[in-house]
Amino acid sequence: MTKPHIAVVGAGIIGICSAYFLNKSGFKVTLIDKNEPGSMTSYGHACTFADYACIPVNSPDLFRDIPSMLLRSDGPLAVDFLYTIRNLSWVMKFLQNCTTQKVKYISNSLGNLLNNASTSYDEIFSDVDVSKYIKNEEALYLFENENEFLKASITNKIREKNGVKIKNLSKNEILELEPNLAPVFFNGQLFIGSRHTTDPLAVSKKIFESFINNGGKFIKNNVENIIPNESKVIVSYKNENFSFDKVVISAGSWSKNLTRKFGDDFPLDTERGYHVLFNNYELIKRPLGWSQSGFYLVQLTEGLRAAGTVEIAGLSKPENKKRTKMIENQARKLLPQLNEVKSTWLGFRPTMPDSLPVIGQSQKNKNIIYGFGHQHIGWTLGAVTGKVINSICNDRIPNINIKPFSPSRFN
Ligand SMILES: Cc1cc2nc3c(=O)[nH]c(=O)nc-3n(C[C@H](O)[C@H](O)[C@H](O)COP(=O)(O)OP(=O)(O)OC[C@H]3O[C@@H](n4cnc5c(N)ncnc54)[C@H](O)[C@@H]3O)c2cc1C
Repeated sequence: MTKPHIAVVGAGIIGICSAYFLNKSGFKVTLIDKNEPGSMTSYGHACTFADYACIPVNSPDLFRDIPSMLLRSDGPLAVDFLYTIRNLSWVMKFLQNCTTQKVKYISNSLGNLLNNASTSYDEIFSDVDVSKYIKNEEALYLFENENEFLKASITNKIREKNGVKIKNLSKNEILELEPNLAPVFFNGQLFIGSRHTTDPLAVSKKIFESFINNGGKFIKNNVENIIPNESKVIVSYKNENFSFDKVVISAGSWSKNLTRKFGDDFPLDTERGYHVLFNNYELIKRPLGWSQSGFYLVQLTEGLRAAGTVEIAGLSKPENKKRTKMIENQARKLLPQLNEVKSTWLGFRPTMPDSLPVIGQSQKNKNIIYGFGHQHIGWTLGAVTGKVINSICNDRIPNINIKPFSPSRFN
């Protein structure tokens, strides 16, 4: 019997892990991307395997906090007002998901997925040796003042219910762990058991190479169209049509451009985020989050990266230099020894208004399977999403409740 042939469109971390698990379970798999595997959003992030990050950006406090966040030039959020007005329906849906009840539901649903994130990666890592690029020094979140620390105690209760272990540290305890930090923070909290990567592109490439070495195929091309029919799904690239038994759409923030082609529309937008890379190699040991400006500092092999913040401005606007300058200035306040900037980067988090990913079969055609919308934690959720997608393609019920991620929830 010939193996079913599956196309995976989009080779970010979600597509790479999906292709890896599908190939391992015996499907013939073709991964397609217009760019190099792992080179887009999955390259430039803050590098944390953030199993603790079940709290969405949606928050009941957002209504109160938005005005001050927007007025502060060093704040974590920036908004392009013209873009926002043109895309008001996503914003309205996002705000509807900011009630206490909704936030609890979102956190528990993400918590469920996150609880399986680490073990799913370990399945890959037992086969693909990336130990050189993984560090176990736990992430430490720094609070700018007592108020921020007290606010976190509310969300920490939700985290703890989801199995996250947190240890509060005083300013002095933090300075003992990270002596190069300037004492400009109030205190902090350590996420016990968390880990991070020092080279996300190398990790993606290693998993991708294992997929290729086991018979997987990669095509570097722009997918122009996806056309489902009764038993096959047609994927068009190079102005030609190719036929597959199933298609996985894991094209990150660009996924809705493809799903729209066959009439499945999603309220998917992007939370743009930035990184600034400094020419430093030994300043800090662990990822350091900074509450004031919403970014992480993390030591990578290519330099010290300050990555994060949110900008609502869509996919087409160029990099906003004010944001990277703000990140640079804030990073220098925390680490005055920082050297010159090597480079800056803009990335596109794929975000649904309820901050939950879309994982499951399309309502339009069951041979089309979705895996996109992983917002701030797609790097963490790559392997577990790949495993769930593999279960769906094998007609098995995943061992995680995926109802909250249903593609039809906004219909
Ligand atoms: C500043 C920042 C910090 C972050 N920090 C963290 C963190 O610390 N931990 C964490 O877990 N997550 C983090 N994230 C989130 C994480 O980076 C994303 O959720 C994740 O990378 C999304 O992966 P993806 O595979 O869905 O998308 P991508 O990596 O963007 O991949 C999508 C791929 O689809 C391809 N594609 C699109 N359209 C087409 C087409 N028509 N034809 C062919 N190919 C196509 C693109 O070329 C791209 O390669 C951060 C994000 C940002 C921006």
